[in-house]
Amino acid sequence: MKTCLLCNKPLTEPESIARGIGPDCWEKIQADVLRYRHSFADRYCGMLTENVLLKRGNDDAPLTNVTHKVFLHATQGYEWGNTSEGAADLALNILWHFATPAVALRWYQVFKRDFLATLPYEGGEIEGKVIRQWIKDKTRTLFG
Ligand SMILES: [Zn+2]
Repeated sequence: MKTCLLCNKPLTEPESIARGIGPDCWEKIQADVLRYRHSFADRYCGMLTENVLLKRGNDDAPLTNVTHKVFLHATQGYEWGNTSEGAADLALNILWHFATPAVALRWYQVFKRDFLATLPYEGGEIEGKVIRQWIKDKTRTLFG
C-alpha cells in the first residue's frame, strides 16, 4: 500500500498516490507557503525553463528562477553554499520542478549536498540536463 511520504498514512485517492502526499499534508504545505512567503528573502529573475539560475541581488538577497512552491524548513527562504534549511528548501523546489513530488521528497537532501552545498556564495547556474541525468541515476538505483 502506498503511504504519504510525510506522515506515512495510507493514500487512497489517485491524486494523492500520484503526488506521494496525502490531502492533509498537502494542504499544510500549501498553507505554510502562503503563511511564510512574505518572509522569504528570495526574489525572482525569470521563469525556470531549462537551467537553474542562482544569483545575488545588490542587497545580497537570493535571486533565482526557481518558484517557491513547496515549503518544509526555512522561513527566511532560499540559500546555497551551505547545508542550511534554506538550501534544503531550494533543493526540494528544484527537484519539484524537474521530477515528481515523490522523487523530490525522497532525494532533495542528497541533491542539496551534491549541488547546492558546494556552490559559491555568489551562486551559479545548474544545467537542466545535468539535473535530469542526476535524477535518472538516482531513480535507477532506487528501482533497480
Ligand atoms: Zn501525510
